[in-house]
Amino acid sequence: MNNVHLLKKYNIPGPRYTSYPTVPFWKNNPLSETEWKSTIQTFMERFQHQEISLYIHLPFCENLCTFCGCHKRITKNHQVEEPYIDTLLKEWELYRATFEFEPTIKELHFGGGTPTFFQAKELIRLLRGIFKASSIQPENCELSFEAHPGSTSHEQLTELYQFGFRRISFGIQDYDFEVQKAINRVQSFELVQNVHQLAKEIGYTSINHDLVYGLPKQSMTAFQNTINLTIELLPERIALYSYAHVPWIKGTGQRGYNEADLPQDADKRALYEMAYEKLLENGYVAIGMDHFALANDALTLAFNARKLHRNFMGYTTKSTNWMIGLGMSSISDCWIGFAQNNKTVESYQEQVNNGIIPVFRGHVLTENELVIRRHILDLMCHFETRFNDNPAFKSINLEIEKRLQPMLEDELVEISCNSVKVLPKGLPYVRNACMAFDQDLATNVIGQQLFSKTI
Ligand code: SF4
Repeated sequence: MNNVHLLKKYNIPGPRYTSYPTVPFWKNNPLSETEWKSTIQTFMERFQHQEISLYIHLPFCENLCTFCGCHKRITKNHQVEEPYIDTLLKEWELYRATFEFEPTIKELHFGGGTPTFFQAKELIRLLRGIFKASSIQPENCELSFEAHPGSTSHEQLTELYQFGFRRISFGIQDYDFEVQKAINRVQSFELVQNVHQLAKEIGYTSINHDLVYGLPKQSMTAFQNTINLTIELLPERIALYSYAHVPWIKGTGQRGYNEADLPQDADKRALYEMAYEKLLENGYVAIGMDHFALANDALTLAFNARKLHRNFMGYTTKSTNWMIGLGMSSISDCWIGFAQNNKTVESYQEQVNNGIIPVFRGHVLTENELVIRRHILDLMCHFETRFNDNPAFKSINLEIEKRLQPMLEDELVEISCNSVKVLPKGLPYVRNACMAFDQDLATNVIGQQLFSKTI
């Protein structure tokens, strides 16, 4: 079967598997604060885990990018900064009251929204409040933030660097002016080059550029130029995401262009394959599903050593089983359970100001789901899962084997009595391999319509 036929066969709606079960299949909806605290308690008793990752959602953006799938609030009013930071600090105190220990923060990430919407002094106030009672070991704690090239100042870069940040992720998407107009995010290469070089001069050691393929008006020639310009700056990491077209979920923000403006199936895949070839030719290593890193970057070393981890922040080198998400819409994950915060700024602030951890939905995993979760995580991080690593699930279940049969016949996966491995030809279809393990999709076909396509 050639690539075009494979694409037609496997390019179906499917999850990105930043969690299992995936959010649409969470059962505790609504989830009360009491239920969430009890899940945390069970986790602490079972795992005695003191290391945490912190994700902090900073939702404000000055302008709406029409392709955006994030939880954000568009405003030019910077008066919102102070009360939002106050609320984050209160929420952190609510979590601290549930701990039976002083946590060690292994990784902290500012995501958004636009974290660089906030003035440096507000971000530093937040960090000081969070770390004042935590056991921070700067040499072991990875601090990172997402930045909008157009709103990142010298002051922000310097102050965050002095606090210990060494990693930044810049949202680039595409340098082509037609694409940028279509997605309402016009930023020149010179602007990105200046801020990238400034970060390097200050001392940041790991810079990521987010690119997106499959955007409206994107052409092969223009995207080749974007990849060439990216390689010119040589960021340590590149995330090359497939544009997730889900206007039925994300509403009007994604309806600023027509379906006809989007590169489809084989054309879209060709954009990825061109980028893949060029990045590998220029010293990058393909990591996990849609990430690339230079050979000496920590992400590559973790991938090679089979130590890569994946959570709601994406791929990471820190493998903590507990990620606390602070801020509106953030998701927390304590391995045996998930919880998501309220999705509007107002409801989030109201709950926290009433002294309540502001969760509204979640999921507590069954023992069987925990086993499936491990297999899906291994496939997403290592392209292989082994059964004898897991005493609860010693050999492949017949139903899963049956669902993998088409991929086996198309030579995309290899199945042995002890493992399922995604073969090089099957790497674009790793999400499809995970879907074979997904009990929720197997029992609920309608569920698939909730997701964007796998390619
Ligand atoms: S892409 Fe980033 S900057 Fe643009 S609206 Fe979304 S969160 Fe805000």
